[in-house]
Amino acid sequence: MIKKITRSSFETFKKIDEQFDSLKKGFQIIAGPCSVENERIMDETAQELSKLGIKILRGGAYKPRTSPYDFQGLKKEGLKILSQTGKKYNMITVSEIVDTRHLETMADYVDILQVGSRNMQNFELLKEIGRSKLPVIIKRGMCSTIEEFKLAAEYVACEGNRNIIMCERGIRTFETATRNTLDISCAAILKKETQLPVIVDLSHSLGRKDIIIEIAKAVLALGTDGIMVEVHSQPQKALSDSIQQLNLKEFRNLLEAIKT
Ligand code: PEP
Ligand code: MN
Repeated sequence: MIKKITRSSFETFKKIDEQFDSLKKGFQIIAGPCSVENERIMDETAQELSKLGIKILRGGAYKPRTSPYDFQGLKKEGLKILSQTGKKYNMITVSEIVDTRHLETMADYVDILQVGSRNMQNFELLKEIGRSKLPVIIKRGMCSTIEEFKLAAEYVACEGNRNIIMCERGIRTFETATRNTLDISCAAILKKETQLPVIVDLSHSLGRKDIIIEIAKAVLALGTDGIMVEVHSQPQKALSDSIQQLNLKEFRNLLEAIKT
């Protein structure tokens, strides 16, 4: 069954490549705030990112938060802000889908859907996305094996959608020094055993900023197809994941460090 996936194409990334120059050939950086909070923050962040050559803008509008009392996202309003900002700066947009009922609305506003870690085994969601043929980033479930991760992609591919990007975002272990434990073996194995683009989410893997440059270099050395990084113009005031989001200067430093 997994063999089907090994023939999946890089259509999504190829399309992006055709439209825009990438930082490195084939290497894409997806950046932007954890959540879309308001127009001003999206604008300040995207303006700087686009100046730096970043082509793919992220921002969550439906936030799967651990606590129901935490900020849940601006929902459709957030999608509208993300979409407007993306258009203004000529950037491709990515946002998380949490429910099959949101598919049509999401399709109206975002270019690439994201299936979050908590929904990696929401099979009905995966099947609907498969039928939609929309490009999708699938994030590894925080307690999922590599095999289960590949099978999640298979659910999408089975329905005829091969526009899949795999995202390693760390798994739960006994370690508490990082938010999750980044499994670089997973990225290497997916690169070897599938033909899907593989990216690594540095922010949710680490949950901290002080080692992000070293880890980004390691991820680049693996030969992955890109990274995802949370960037916010005022992270200290962010409504979600405040600690791990890079400010604009920190993001510039990261970019500088991995360019060389
Ligand atoms: C996110 O990228 O906004 C997110 C919630 O990540 P994850 O699903 O990996 O926890
Ligand atoms: Mn986040």
